[in-house]
Amino acid sequence: MIDIYDLLEPQIANPRKTGIFSDLDGTLSEIAPTPDDAIITDEMRSIIKRLAGKYAVVSIVSGRDSNEAKKVVGLDDIIYIGNHGLEWLDDGKQFYVPEAFDFYGLASNLAVELTAILDGFDLVVEKKKLGVAIHYRQAQDKKLAKISIKQSIKPFLEKYPLKSLEGRYVIELKPDLNVNKGKAVTVVALRKGLERALYLGDDMTDVDAFRAFKALRNEGRVETVSIAVASDEAEPSIIGEADYVVQNVGEVQDLLNWLAK
Ligand SMILES: [Mg+2]
Repeated sequence: MIDIYDLLEPQIANPRKTGIFSDLDGTLSEIAPTPDDAIITDEMRSIIKRLAGKYAVVSIVSGRDSNEAKKVVGLDDIIYIGNHGLEWLDDGKQFYVPEAFDFYGLASNLAVELTAILDGFDLVVEKKKLGVAIHYRQAQDKKLAKISIKQSIKPFLEKYPLKSLEGRYVIELKPDLNVNKGKAVTVVALRKGLERALYLGDDMTDVDAFRAFKALRNEGRVETVSIAVASDEAEPSIIGEADYVVQNVGEVQDLLNWLAK
């Protein structure tokens, strides 16, 4: 078994040419009953702050809106990539993938309609800038909830250029564009001229980033390492896509603390 600290030694040796990218929910924060309840600990926040002072890039890569991710993390000087790469906050400025901006109004209508359709189930319909996430973590019967959600979004998938994504007790509707976390981290890593980069994530949408990082490494463009956070909720297959696995948010914190030294 490779030792993760050996693997990351070169990254720590050259921080001004290294980027640290991480998912938020389930990676830096424990999964909460609803998205609004998610918090990161003060200790984790202070570690991220130290990382931001040391490394060329520190970026949160989330399915949340970037400004919502920023609210949770509470730090200014990092890049927040939101909606799985469709929009981001860099240096306090908001950017969008141009094609995604057309979905701004549609997303808000979808949230209203789906909230009405799914009323009565124990679900949380999260309205995002460029999509809708329906969380069924709190549903009594999760299997039934999942089936009901899939049925309710079907007409919208047929009517609009949207696609659905599944994660840890969440189903999302988002623009059917060729954009994902992997594309987003690739763009940032290359634009910022990174020589090394690390990615951490716990869910299906993070696999796009694991694969993109593998491609960057195989092409000799960026020396990358990707780390999956294990959970009994996510597809076990995601583990095999990363270079290394840690068991929980606590182990992520230990690792980032070591990188921040
Ligand atoms: Mg996650």
